[in-house]
Amino acid sequence: MRHGKELLKKAANEINIELTDLQIDQFYKYYEMLVEKNKVMNLTAIVDEDEVIIKHFIDSILSVKVFDFNKIDSLIDVGTGAGFPGIPLKIIFPELNITLVDSLNKRLNFIKEVIDELKLEKITLVHGRAEDVARDKNHREKYDVCVSRAVANLCTLSEYCIPFVKVDGKFISYKSSFSDEEIESAKYAIKVLGGEIISKEEEHLPESDIDRIFINIKKINNTPKAYPRKAGTPNRKPLKK
Ligand code: SAM
Repeated sequence: MRHGKELLKKAANEINIELTDLQIDQFYKYYEMLVEKNKVMNLTAIVDEDEVIIKHFIDSILSVKVFDFNKIDSLIDVGTGAGFPGIPLKIIFPELNITLVDSLNKRLNFIKEVIDELKLEKITLVHGRAEDVARDKNHREKYDVCVSRAVANLCTLSEYCIPFVKVDGKFISYKSSFSDEEIESAKYAIKVLGGEIISKEEEHLPESDIDRIFINIKKINNTPKAYPRKAGTPNRKPLKK
């Protein structure tokens, strides 16, 4: 087996995931398509094979350490970009209904090619700003879990993400290790939007010197109708006291 595939298998094993041959092939096709398309479109700054495997693929599925995705039915990935973390989660949990949202259509077009090539099912692409999509009744408070990586600070991101989550559902935010202040300053927004931080968990990214923080937010109340505010406002004027 070539080095990259061995690394993928080993790193997945370290987070208790036993990849099937089909899943390894799917990740590999995804890697090849990502690197090829990246030559003509800005999809990722990371192109080295080992780095894509660890910093995109394994990082995307690292959330299995903090949440049992087998227990849910629907998941939305807000600001998915080239498909992270949504596509790797879909490969690992093929039964999940997954929706990927991004405001850049050309990235979604790339993901459409990946979905066809990998023969992924039960996956929906939505082109739009999270602030607009979250006001659509087909998406508002319709998901068991929302995930998002590298899209905005937690305060802004909460306004993008919490409106998508059903009451009793979760918003799992992928954050870097140094975000204590960011978490503190987002607490007010999270409460207003109907959420509550239930845990902050640090997990080591296998085969790297990186630690990732997952902020685990539970939706305890419906999001008031006023949120999310008009597209652009959550970023320009984050919801603060
Ligand atoms: N989540 C991916 C990852 O971790 O590699 C992509 C991260 S990229 C830095 C941020 C992505 O979020 C971009 O593709 C951008 O178009 C999208 N984005 C930013 N603001 C958004 C919004 N308000 N609604 C939808 N997508 C948004």
